[in-house]
Amino acid sequence: MGAPAESAVTHVEVDRRYWNEAIETLPRPELEALQLAKLKKHLNFAYQHSPYYRSAFDAAGVNPVDFKALSDLRTYPFVNKQVERERQLASPLLGDMVAVTERDVVFVSASSGSTGVPTLSPFTAQDFETFQDNQARLFWATGIRPTDRYVHALNFTLFVGGPDVIGAQKLGALCFWAGTVPSDRLLFIMKEFQTTVTWTTPSYAWHLGETAKEHGIDPAKDLAIRKIIVAGEPGGSIPATRAAIEKLWNAELFDFYGISDIYGACAGMCEARDGLHLVEDDILLEVLDPATHEPVPDGQPGEMVLTTLTKAARPMIRFRTGDIITADRSPCSCGRTHVRIKIIGRIDDMIIINGVNVFPSDVEFVVRNVPGISGEYRITVYEKDHLARFDIEVEKEDAALDDTELAERIAHDIKTRLGVRPKVVKILVPGSLPRSTHKAKRLLDLRKS
Ligand SMILES: [Zn+2]
Repeated sequence: MGAPAESAVTHVEVDRRYWNEAIETLPRPELEALQLAKLKKHLNFAYQHSPYYRSAFDAAGVNPVDFKALSDLRTYPFVNKQVERERQLASPLLGDMVAVTERDVVFVSASSGSTGVPTLSPFTAQDFETFQDNQARLFWATGIRPTDRYVHALNFTLFVGGPDVIGAQKLGALCFWAGTVPSDRLLFIMKEFQTTVTWTTPSYAWHLGETAKEHGIDPAKDLAIRKIIVAGEPGGSIPATRAAIEKLWNAELFDFYGISDIYGACAGMCEARDGLHLVEDDILLEVLDPATHEPVPDGQPGEMVLTTLTKAARPMIRFRTGDIITADRSPCSCGRTHVRIKIIGRIDDMIIINGVNVFPSDVEFVVRNVPGISGEYRITVYEKDHLARFDIEVEKEDAALDDTELAERIAHDIKTRLGVRPKVVKILVPGSLPRSTHKAKRLLDLRKS
């Protein structure tokens, strides 16, 4: 054997600043011209190939051949989660919003925590490639380089965040596909292999750091994690939570934003960590007043409405995310020109417990199916040790039932349906809970007070 042959792998230059400099630093007028060209093409594609969009555009009296300016998009109809569900059920498997045949679909993700049949989000091979290239770009912007060891600690089961690890691989990092392993196993991987980057939820990052300390491991000294990517909860952009996690780990926290209907990540913080850059050459942003649907100026809160510019399997035209954000199109110190978003909260009453979307209607489904209780309930959400927790109160009608067994059954059924377990199930006497048809009264979110 002679000297090892020159590596056949084409190495990414470690010292370059941007993943795709030309696109990421494109002056805004040129970026908007690019968006317009892509959008016009994408709308025509949707109109020609998606039965749903053809009928929806016709009903709204719009035709993509007439599309002239980005502002013309305001005449197009919205879609939302409910439309997605209805169209999927109307035409299984993938619904009639899709613009390709099932033969061209190579991957589907599903939204977490939703009631009934999960809403599937299909990708063609090219969509998936674009998803991962965007992912690599967002990772690169945080400073992750091919010399990093990345441990991916997100769920792989139908969750669109699972494949995000491929973006880190594309960038050249050494990747560990850990998934949602038990905390002691994850800590073992981090300690043994001295991994430098991880991705999890903010509350789990806190919990994991505290667990490490209980095991005699100081995450700030004994582990090599120096960058933590977080998503799925507001904590990543809440200064007090960020500071506490960063101190615990001696690491920098980067907030990312993803949505199963589009990509595992659509936006992420750069090294300046002042808002999340959206991949604007691939996703068009509108920030609208939720009531009037008129655009709001930068800096003013509004609902984030997203439109895909290339995703072929199921184009998303004016998707109402239900997320309230502010936008900032001013130049970022990193040199990137793409808009920065700050996520403020959810428009509806959905609550997020440790990265899992929890709807009060899911809790209702469970308590209405347990015999011997009234069906009335109250959910109390609170934060303890930077971890979101929730308690459930119910009323026992059948006096013969054992309180402990009843509480355990309810906790078990909720965990089975939602994926998260209530901290406490309190059994009350009938008539204890206020009667109300307004579901907000059944939800007490102490984190908001
Ligand atoms: Zn930046």
